[in-house]
Amino acid sequence: QQVMARGLPKQKPIEGVKNIILVVSGKGGVGKSTTAVNTAVALADMKINVGLLDADVFGPSIPLMMDLDESPLLTDDNKMIPPTNFGVKCMSMGFLVTEKAAVIWRGLMVMSALDRLLRQVQWGSLDYLIVDTPPGTGDTLLSLIQNLPISGVIIVTTPQKAAVQVTRRGASMLQKLSVPIIGIVENMSFIQCPNCSHEVSIFGDNTKDLAVELDVPLLSNIPLDSKISVSSDAGVPVVLSKRENNQYLEMAVTPIQL
Ligand code: ADP
Repeated sequence: QQVMARGLPKQKPIEGVKNIILVVSGKGGVGKSTTAVNTAVALADMKINVGLLDADVFGPSIPLMMDLDESPLLTDDNKMIPPTNFGVKCMSMGFLVTEKAAVIWRGLMVMSALDRLLRQVQWGSLDYLIVDTPPGTGDTLLSLIQNLPISGVIIVTTPQKAAVQVTRRGASMLQKLSVPIIGIVENMSFIQCPNCSHEVSIFGDNTKDLAVELDVPLLSNIPLDSKISVSSDAGVPVVLSKRENNQYLEMAVTPIQL
């Protein structure tokens, strides 16, 4: 409040970073990290300078998905050099501590760790920093919104009623805080029969209404596809697999191209 009273901006940019994009979800397990990783990798594939920050201090998944498992080296002025794969500069708590150690962290420790992951990193010049946030609308998300100039938010949900309900709450919070929402990525929309290509929806069809209600675009409908989970576990994001005829490559960059 004091800072605001002095008329200084509270949201401090990150040196060299042009756009900060948050990838958020109401619930866990809906494909938020998968979306963040594939968006970042697809942008890097287009020769765009991109970084990926795993802000999920308690459940980092970027190291596995990006096939990175190394402690960052330090520059002379003590900044961390982000480990890089597929042309994406990455930073994650998973590079710094074991998962077990992170579980006992609380409140302020998380916030100061996050600040370090954001600002004590030699990102260099980035067109986009994609931030994979923890699920829900907890302290971490609020703190990111308060402290960083956010260019836009990509919301990820499955079409299931339970997921969409939680997404609705989170999205209205973002709108109240005047954070720009780029749109909604609907994941696990349907499954396609490998024999006859018939599409079966598994989790219902509740996202369209939410998009209308929030007045934001529905960016893509991503099928439940073993190619996605297998490639994710193998540490090769699906947008890079079988590059000819890869329907996911275009989907991944749609939000940014808007
Ligand atoms: P979140 O970040 O929301 O917790 P993840 O991106 O970690 O979710 O995805 C959860 C799991 O579901 C991962 O094992 C991932 O590989 C898998 N997954 C995500 N989206 C799909 C999809 N469209 N088809 C198949 N598996 C998926």
